[in-house]
Amino acid sequence: MPQKKTALVISAHAADFVWRCGGAIALHAEKGYDVTVVCLSFGERGESAKLWKEPGMTLEKVKTARRAEAEKAAVALGVHDLVCFDLGDYPLRLTDDDKYRLVDVIRAVQPAFMLSHSQYDPYNTDHMYATQVALETRMIAQAWGHKPGETVLGAPQLYLFEPHQTEQMGWKPDTFLDITPVWDRKRAAIECMEGQEHLWDFYTRVAENRANHFMRNSGGQSGGRKAKYAEGFQSVFPRTVDEL
Ligand SMILES: [Zn+2]
Repeated sequence: MPQKKTALVISAHAADFVWRCGGAIALHAEKGYDVTVVCLSFGERGESAKLWKEPGMTLEKVKTARRAEAEKAAVALGVHDLVCFDLGDYPLRLTDDDKYRLVDVIRAVQPAFMLSHSQYDPYNTDHMYATQVALETRMIAQAWGHKPGETVLGAPQLYLFEPHQTEQMGWKPDTFLDITPVWDRKRAAIECMEGQEHLWDFYTRVAENRANHFMRNSGGQSGGRKAKYAEGFQSVFPRTVDEL
């Protein structure tokens, strides 16, 4: 295992990592983690409506704009490495070779934990497909028979970050992360997403509400720890613990 602590985000589209786990990225970057973000696509077809309303817009122009936004947001969050696969969206599809490329990234990073989308999302099948790919490539990265001789992956937790319209997605958070110390960085990254300005305040309110849940679940009125901003996550795998 490498000395350096690392984490890996697998994002279906270019902006998802900002709304859904930008705080986790910035917080862990400040704690000394190298956080790698893989954007499987730029969200150029499905999540760039504002850009498409501009006259003379083309797919290449949208992709260029979305890449620039993602790069700027990554800098704001302290992302160690932003890897853009540019696989296209709506629908997002990976060939086996694309999956092996992602396995190579996972093995190179050796993440202590991974982050991706909710497992169910009937509004946005790219999102749930990305999670299926995250699970599949995590599994392959653990296989001793895949590229024998390479360092295999351990068993990093896969945290599912908060989807839009949570109640429709079968997403149930079991972890709340206090991101108050890095909120300014997350808001700065959010504001890099000029094509989705309608979501800036929405995701600010989400963070404020999750901060209330952070306090409620850390003791509530009988001594809960206050947070101003938080993010919720659902873990896929059991944790191995010696005490609770
Ligand atoms: Zn998305």
